[in-house]
Amino acid sequence: MAASIRPRLISRLAVVTGGGSGIGRAVCQRLASEGASLVVADRSVESANQTLENLSRDHKGQEHMVAEVDVAFRSSVENLLNSIQRRYFQPPSVCVNAAGITQDEFLLKMEEEDFDKVVQVNLKGTFLITQAFSRAMVAAGAPKGSIVTVGSIVGKVGNVGQANYSASKAGVQGLTRTAAKELSRFGIRCNCVLPGFITTPMTDKVPEKVISRITSLVPLGRMGDPAEVADVCAFLASDDSLYITGSCIEVTGGLFMG
Ligand code: NAD
Repeated sequence: MAASIRPRLISRLAVVTGGGSGIGRAVCQRLASEGASLVVADRSVESANQTLENLSRDHKGQEHMVAEVDVAFRSSVENLLNSIQRRYFQPPSVCVNAAGITQDEFLLKMEEEDFDKVVQVNLKGTFLITQAFSRAMVAAGAPKGSIVTVGSIVGKVGNVGQANYSASKAGVQGLTRTAAKELSRFGIRCNCVLPGFITTPMTDKVPEKVISRITSLVPLGRMGDPAEVADVCAFLASDDSLYITGSCIEVTGGLFMG
């Protein structure tokens, strides 16, 4: 974060799923640097702890925690919410859904289980987290709730080898817009970020040949950095976006525009 930017999230409590790696980790770092207390939630406690170790604590009252969660299971999501309420006596007012997986294969060869697995984490997981945390925000009467989901540009345009992933991410957009319509009367905003190709452990799996072909198509001429997605998430979490809900913001370096 540039030193001149004012911290916008002082005294806010934020939960970030998938906070142990890549985009989720960058979001945790950015929100903490803007003054929020962070719940770093991930299936991997070890990687969540690594994120926690480097979070800023420069602002008064900041208190971070790690929580294990598998977003694909309601009981696990409920345990996460309960552990947060026990610790902070309130639900988060910011919730970022960054947990996600890929299981790539050509449509003609894709196993049904691999379709189900990806949809269960990326789409159903986003539903379970969004539902549980928005219910808690409504019950607490907390104003200024902001829920951010992470879709993908491939949810709009498709991608070879990603029938499961692109379907799950298209679903995330529909879910976000519906949640935005239903939750606005409670003061809760819901928006989606659509990253393009961002350098993280997820894209480390993509063959070099494919990466250089994609990069050549990106108008800005490079892959994105997780911090550049986190910038947009922080904007959506903050009061700088108070009149924005139901939007899907592309963070793609211009890839597949228009
Ligand atoms: P990543 O693999 O680096 O991080 C994903 C994190 O999610 C990991 O820490 C993992 O442990 C966690 N996770 C996976 N399944 C989980 C589950 N069931 N419950 C809880 N945590 C779980 O990936 P990333 O690139 O940082 O991706 C973050 C999000 O951004 C994902 O939703 C991904 O689909 C999306 N995205 C990434 C890109 C990209 O180019 N990297 C592009 C578009 C969208």
